[in-house]
Amino acid sequence: MRTFNFITIFPDLINNFLKYGLVNRAIEKKIIEINTIYLRDFSDDSNLRIDDKSYGGGPGMVMRYKPVEDALKSITRKSYVIYLSPHGSKLDQHKISELTKVQNLTFLCGRYEGYDQRVVDDLVDEQISLGDYVISGGELPSLILLEGITRLLPNVANDLDSILNDSFTDNLLDYPHYTRPESINGHEVPDVLLSGNHNEIAKWRRKQSLGITWKNRPDLLKNVKLSIEDDKLLKEYINESKENENK
Ligand code: SAM
Repeated sequence: MRTFNFITIFPDLINNFLKYGLVNRAIEKKIIEINTIYLRDFSDDSNLRIDDKSYGGGPGMVMRYKPVEDALKSITRKSYVIYLSPHGSKLDQHKISELTKVQNLTFLCGRYEGYDQRVVDDLVDEQISLGDYVISGGELPSLILLEGITRLLPNVANDLDSILNDSFTDNLLDYPHYTRPESINGHEVPDVLLSGNHNEIAKWRRKQSLGITWKNRPDLLKNVKLSIEDDKLLKEYINESKENENK
C-alpha cells in the first residue's frame, strides 16, 4: 500500500479532505493510506509552540528545526520528503506522474514564513511549488499533490481512459465535452458528436485538442511531435478559426 505522510499544524484540514472523491475511494480500497502528523505533538515547548522569531529581526515567525526532525523520525519507513514551497520547481503533470513511482511520500506543510532554512537543507529531498504566487500554508498544495498522484494509481479511477485523455497527457489540452440538452440558447452540440461515427468523432476530438492547445497554450505544442494527420488537422483548425474571425 502506498503511504502519504502529512506534517502539519492543521491536521483537520488534511483529514476532512480525505472524506471525498477519488482519494476517499483509494483509502477505502486500501490502495493508499494517510498518516497525518500533528507537528505540535513534537514541540518541546510547554505552550506547544513550533515557531520562533526570525534571526536578523523583521516580521514573521519561522518554523523550528527540532519538531520537524522529530516528526520525521516518527515515520518508521523510508520516505521521500517534499516541502511545498514557493521556492520549489513548478508542479506539472510530468512531476505528478513521476511521483506515482514513489511508495512512501512525506509532505511538509509550511506556515508563517516557512521552515528554518536548515530543514530545507538537511531534511528535505525536494521542494515543489504550485506556481508563482504565495498562499498561507502548504496544506492545500500538498492535497493537490495527493489527489493528482492518487487518481493516476491503478484501480483507483473507474474509467482510466478518461484520465488518459485528460489535459497535459501528451502535452495537449483536452477536447471540449458536451452533455444534454442538445441545444442551449441557440448553442448546439456539434453534429459530429451526434453522428454515431466513432472514427469521425475521434478525428474531431483530436483536432479540437490540437487546436485548443495551439490557441490557449502554444508553449505546450512545442513539445508535441505532430504526425502528418495531426499537422493536417491543426492546419484545418487554424484556417477555420481565421475564417470565423473574418465573419
Ligand atoms: N516566506 C515565504 C516566501 O515568501 O517564499 C512564504 C511563506 S508562505 C506564507 C507559508 C507556507 O505556505 C510556505 O512555507 C509553503 O508551505 C506554503 N506555500 C505558499 N505558497 C506556496 C506555493 N506557491 N507553492 C507551494 N507552497 C506554498
